[in-house]
Amino acid sequence: MLDASGVLRQGLLQLSKSGRMRDLIERAPLSRDVVRRFVPGDSTADVVRVAADLDLTGRTSTIDHLGEDTVHLGQAQATRDAYLSLLSALGAAGLTQGGKAEVSLKLSALGQALPGDGSKIALEHAREICQAAADAGTTVTLDMEDHTTTDATLETLRELRQDFPSVGAVLQAYLIRTEADCRDLSYEGSRVRLCKGAYQEPESVAFQGKDDVDRSFVRCLKVLMAGPGYPMVASHDPRLVEIAGALAHKQDRAPNTYEYQMLYGIRPEEQKRIADRGDQMRVYLPYGHEWYGYLMRRMAERPANTIFFLRSLVTKG
Ligand SMILES: Cc1cc2nc3c(=O)[nH]c(=O)nc-3n(C[C@H](O)[C@H](O)[C@H](O)COP(=O)(O)OP(=O)(O)OC[C@H]3O[C@@H](n4cnc5c(N)ncnc54)[C@H](O)[C@@H]3O)c2cc1C
Repeated sequence: MLDASGVLRQGLLQLSKSGRMRDLIERAPLSRDVVRRFVPGDSTADVVRVAADLDLTGRTSTIDHLGEDTVHLGQAQATRDAYLSLLSALGAAGLTQGGKAEVSLKLSALGQALPGDGSKIALEHAREICQAAADAGTTVTLDMEDHTTTDATLETLRELRQDFPSVGAVLQAYLIRTEADCRDLSYEGSRVRLCKGAYQEPESVAFQGKDDVDRSFVRCLKVLMAGPGYPMVASHDPRLVEIAGALAHKQDRAPNTYEYQMLYGIRPEEQKRIADRGDQMRVYLPYGHEWYGYLMRRMAERPANTIFFLRSLVTKG
């Protein structure tokens, strides 16, 4: 049985897929503050500036050009072009060397859901972006979307890694299959971002209770930390962050063999504390106009955000 916050979460995740609600909210006299807390800018120049600021505080970044569920080829090509411009601007700002800034891609924004050749189109777009990232001296991580795309995304990852071995993947601890996927992806040079998972998933494929998801996260962490790959611990959960540190210590991992990751705007003081103590802290930095789906998932994660959000709908900013 779901409690009240579980019901709210499911409702918000349902809304995150609604085109009508998206139009309504995006046009609402929404305070910029609520969007800006999680999405610091619309343009390439905005996000490059924020990445440079993060760099000054010892934090690296992974940048996401917002957009998902693309249904037109032109839109997918525009997303590819946005990433190419972004990588060129990051290079010009000196942010691509030494992994200071990398990029995160959603294959659905690059055409994965287009009828017919969607996966092939997304792969070709991702390949062009990986090439631009490699030329600039940095790399790419493939975000993971809902479970219907997991196999296609892992297949695209395998293809991309033949030419670009540093391409990273995301695995979601709420999926029952993920512990096995961690084993498969736990090899030399493999970069795996482990997160809890942000989509609404059925019981047949995903753990539903918070404790079950947390336990799965720890099992997956143990596999990744014990293996020869490069784990990326993507969570704001203080308990899981602590367990990750303890497991890294137990495995004698040097700080440059794994990293912590958090979302822009969430627990920024903790982000700085982790960076200041000498661990690697990468911030997931989204930018662009298509913030609706991303913002709704952040609302679903925390009821307090929803109150902040609803208040902003009635208070013009
Ligand atoms: C770098 C990064 C990349 C990600 N990539 C993906 C991806 O590709 N696919 C995917 O499905 N999911 C992705 N996620 C989202 C992830 O799956 C979770 O939904 C999200 O991180 C919340 O889970 P949590 O581990 O922080 O734990 P939770 O139990 O949700 O939160 C723990 C604590 O963190 C704080 N917190 C968490 N979320 C919020 C919030 N929205 N606002 C304010 N405080 C909050 C609160 O203090 C909360 O008590 C990513 C997350 C990160 C950090």
